Amino acid sequence: MTKWMNKPISELHDALVRKIVTPSELLEDCIQGIQEDKCNCFEATAFDEARKTAQSIKEVGPEDYLRGIPFLAKDNFSTKGIETTASSDILNGYVPLYDATVIAKLKRAGMILVAKTTMDELAMGGTGTTGHKGVTTNPYEHERIVGGSSCGSAAAIAQGIAPLALGSDTGDSVRKPASLSATVGFKCTWGRISRYGLFPFATSMDAVGFFTRNVLDSSHVLSVLSGHDRMDMSSSYRKKEKYESYVEKRKTLHRIGYFKAVMDGISDPVIRKSYVELLEKLKKRGYEVVEYDYPEKLLDALYPTYMILSCAESTSNNANLDGIRFGPKAEGESETYSDYMRKARTKGFSDLIKRRFVIGSFSLLSANQEEMFNRAQKARRLIVNEMNRFFDAVDYLLVPASYSKPKRIDSLSTAWSTKPDFLDNILTLGNFGGYPSLTLPLDFEDTLPFGVNITGRIFEDGYVMGLGKEIEDLTGLKDIVFKEGK
Ligand code: GLN
Repeated sequence: MTKWMNKPISELHDALVRKIVTPSELLEDCIQGIQEDKCNCFEATAFDEARKTAQSIKEVGPEDYLRGIPFLAKDNFSTKGIETTASSDILNGYVPLYDATVIAKLKRAGMILVAKTTMDELAMGGTGTTGHKGVTTNPYEHERIVGGSSCGSAAAIAQGIAPLALGSDTGDSVRKPASLSATVGFKCTWGRISRYGLFPFATSMDAVGFFTRNVLDSSHVLSVLSGHDRMDMSSSYRKKEKYESYVEKRKTLHRIGYFKAVMDGISDPVIRKSYVELLEKLKKRGYEVVEYDYPEKLLDALYPTYMILSCAESTSNNANLDGIRFGPKAEGESETYSDYMRKARTKGFSDLIKRRFVIGSFSLLSANQEEMFNRAQKARRLIVNEMNRFFDAVDYLLVPASYSKPKRIDSLSTAWSTKPDFLDNILTLGNFGGYPSLTLPLDFEDTLPFGVNITGRIFEDGYVMGLGKEIEDLTGLKDIVFKEGK
């Protein structure tokens, strides 16, 4: 059987239009990939429904860019009739009655949903090791993490199982794993894509994202997914754009900025060299490359600010998970609703989640609010003000998307770091300000990939994609699939 799923959407589309392949053949290739998955990427499958849909597609026209092509979705997107757990025991047995808007839109465009992917429990975490199905590994080296929280989506794309997988990004959950898996990971401007049906984590930062093999595919998916949705009042009314035109015409802005503190902080010589070389190449292509002195004090504030705000928001967003209609039943007799709920939640959440809820509740207590939550809100405002000042002078921020090889799984610790490295949290800038942000492959260190990340002004998603294409051409790294023994 020809291997199709390691190809980008653009090639699959072409083959469908020319009738070299049928949607059913593509689907069978995808199903086989899922069955042979080596990284623990999957929560649930929808093969029967997918087969029916594939058979019903008789014709694919040149304009139907996505029709007949399989896709995957992180398990925090509601999918009608398919159990959706966000990789948490507390949601075991929950079968949504409706599709998230993004799922519905992709289906309407003719795409075929084949499976749901693993994640860090409730999208909290960055390692891909905390979901209830266990660790999701990196195809490039199974002893290492692929990163999270969208671990299954990243590892599936990297293995060549499908050409598109949806993810969600609250801190860096699409853009970090993309870096560790040599895939393209995009997070849209806050509000550009409807979040109806996406389980909320931290509402003020959550954005829909996705993994593809190249920037052009990403731009096509954004064109289909963007736009106002009356089911999500935070979705923007702004006019939809044809994002692929930015990529096809390589439409970009001119000034690319880097942070002095980031440049000084990169300790891995391989990553440093590739990053500096990329900046040089961009200069040669005529871009103005600008150093910006973003205050280190604010960079050091990223982690505590993110932790307090995201834990607070997630504590209230997840307060509805009471274990009554689904999830593990509380043991023994319960006198009251809150007694039952306490027991069910104790059983249903892992330690990491409980710890985050403790932080969230603590910072929201009226006695602590001023000192913790309000202070974090103020810190966020300062961080974003400074970013907006940056964007007054410069059009893009370019940073490495990871700063070391993916961590070894046996080296992970559950202890909180007391002196977090701001480089590990730099991508949260994109969520604090709601900016569009794209990670794409930059290079390999030994056999392990690392990416580069572009962040732009809000609603300049198209220009971010345009520069992504420029960089893709400069690195020559696109349509990458992990190959055994390489
Ligand atoms: N790693 C971050 C966290 O632990 C980001 C998670 C995300 O973007 N969903 O919360």
